[in-house]
Amino acid sequence: MSTTLLGIADDRALGGSVRVIVTRPADLIKAKAAVDKVLEAIDLAASRFRQDSELSRLNSVPEREVVVSPLLAQAIGAALRGAELTGGAVDPTIGSAVRLAGYDSDFAGVPADGAELHLVAERIPGWRAIRFDAHSRSVVVPRGVEIDLGATAKALASDLAATAAIKAIAGGGVLVSLGGDIAVAGEAPAEGWLIQTSEDSGAAIAEGEETISITTGGIATSSTTVRRWTRGGVVLHHIIDPATGLPANSCWRTASVVAATCVDANIASTAAIVMGQSAVSWLEANRLPARLVDLEGNVHRVARWPERAANSDRLPKVL
Ligand code: AMP
Ligand code: MG
Repeated sequence: MSTTLLGIADDRALGGSVRVIVTRPADLIKAKAAVDKVLEAIDLAASRFRQDSELSRLNSVPEREVVVSPLLAQAIGAALRGAELTGGAVDPTIGSAVRLAGYDSDFAGVPADGAELHLVAERIPGWRAIRFDAHSRSVVVPRGVEIDLGATAKALASDLAATAAIKAIAGGGVLVSLGGDIAVAGEAPAEGWLIQTSEDSGAAIAEGEETISITTGGIATSSTTVRRWTRGGVVLHHIIDPATGLPANSCWRTASVVAATCVDANIASTAAIVMGQSAVSWLEANRLPARLVDLEGNVHRVARWPERAANSDRLPKVL
């Protein structure tokens, strides 16, 4: 049996947990510093919970043409690409819908219980309402539209952080996990990066849990089981169905997807929750291996997500 020595740093940022793992432990401090720099930049550019973020300022000046920073332009570009790829199941104009449903601050500040909300089903404004030119980085947010980059910006941060870390340490391999949105870069360990698929990224590593292995790209998990709260006895959660503006009434409670980047994995995992049953054919058509957990807790593996390994000597490989 071979033993691999890894360097691991745990922290918190962007309203969730951060884990950085390097294959050469001596690289850890340099890698973590590079990751921190990216996370700070993303938070300042794209957080909807900071009044001083570039995104908050953009949302506060509707109908005005604003030239945004390259980083915010990249995050908006990723969100709009997600909208296009998913037929609008993932859509950054869910901002006011998710806020009206009660998710109006960093999740730690959202009360678990509260008085009844009178939510009215109403289609969200839709991503096509945003005028964005990637080349000039100019954006016009229409009146009444609030952009939320919660789904794609965290995944983009994972991708950018992993790339920045590998550049900083020149060699070896790195994994960056932001609340379960995982990107890897550089040389993977011999057995690949072993990742336990849990519904909650805070779950302890446990024998008997399903584990997969990736060597490149990313994996993301979206779930309605973790970021949820109750208002007037009604359970609400953070994934909005753009067709109704309300928390999605999905047949899946958790979706994990492997893709070439964490952004793509995340676009697909959020979309899978919103799409419900039709996610299966969409994931198959886009060749995105996915593990979907239905409301009863049954696991559905689609698009060549590996079957559960019988023992840890036969870990399946993805990608
Ligand atoms: P994720 O956990 O990656 O699925 O992202 C969920 C986060 O993305 C939520 O906390 C919201 O900020 C935002 N969000 C919710 N519903 C949608 C949607 N349909 N499209 C895009 N972003 C969404
Ligand atoms: Mg995610």
